[in-house]
Amino acid sequence: MPSGTSSQRAFALSPRVWRWFGAVAAVCVLVAAVWMVRPESAASPQAQLANVGSPQVLAARVAPPRPRPSASPEFALPAPAADAVALTFDDGPHPEFTPRVLDILDQYGVKATFFLLGQMVEEYPELVQEIQERGHAIAGHSMQHDDLTKMDDAKVEAELAGVNELIEAQTGSVPTCHRPPYGAHNARTDAVAAQLGLATIMWQVDTNDWRKPGASSIAASAGAAQGGQIVLMHDAGGDRSQTVAALPTIIETLQRRGLRIVPICAVIRADSSAGPIRF
Ligand SMILES: [Zn+2]
Repeated sequence: MPSGTSSQRAFALSPRVWRWFGAVAAVCVLVAAVWMVRPESAASPQAQLANVGSPQVLAARVAPPRPRPSASPEFALPAPAADAVALTFDDGPHPEFTPRVLDILDQYGVKATFFLLGQMVEEYPELVQEIQERGHAIAGHSMQHDDLTKMDDAKVEAELAGVNELIEAQTGSVPTCHRPPYGAHNARTDAVAAQLGLATIMWQVDTNDWRKPGASSIAASAGAAQGGQIVLMHDAGGDRSQTVAALPTIIETLQRRGLRIVPICAVIRADSSAGPIRF
């Protein structure tokens, strides 16, 4: 009677099996309980300090989750459309050159993108507000303008999150992009940026304006940009008179060629769940 024997054996083993399940369940409950209280009670003081210092942990404690930018609207893309060019200005804000750049952009009704340096934001916070009020896109360019690829992950996060927090404090908006100093980035720094919700933005057209090659050279480089390309310029980090002088010619040349000039990189209102601001 094979079936009867099997049934009896199963019946005979059943209490042991159930005791075993009970023991496993008890261990699971214990492990879960220990894990749930660990951040407050079991972590080392150093680990707790590290947690407190993490912008992500701070953000999670003081603010609800923020919406991520939609990938579908044009403005949310970290690149201009095929019939448009993005003019970008790094290293500011600068008390002399940024207002001059803003005035020229206003004169032509053109919007640009400013990649701000944390230490300059700390020094000239009112200029950050002015850039936003005049309708331009704002993103971070790190705190100190050091090479991100030579830092460990925690330092990279501090550089990127630090400038974002300063920008948010002035504008109430959270950037969705960043530009690495010197354009120095790798898969590791890009991953840290992505964890912070930031796309890493480079450029296709380098005006080399920081070398001060002359306004006509800067204008020729930027004016030759093709649709879909991003142009790199600077509104700080030295005497940017040549960049300012070249800007009207750049705008006129691009527009004469039928190219729109657009900002890139949406910002997200920190106090809203409405999604990115449209440019
Ligand atoms: Zn720079």
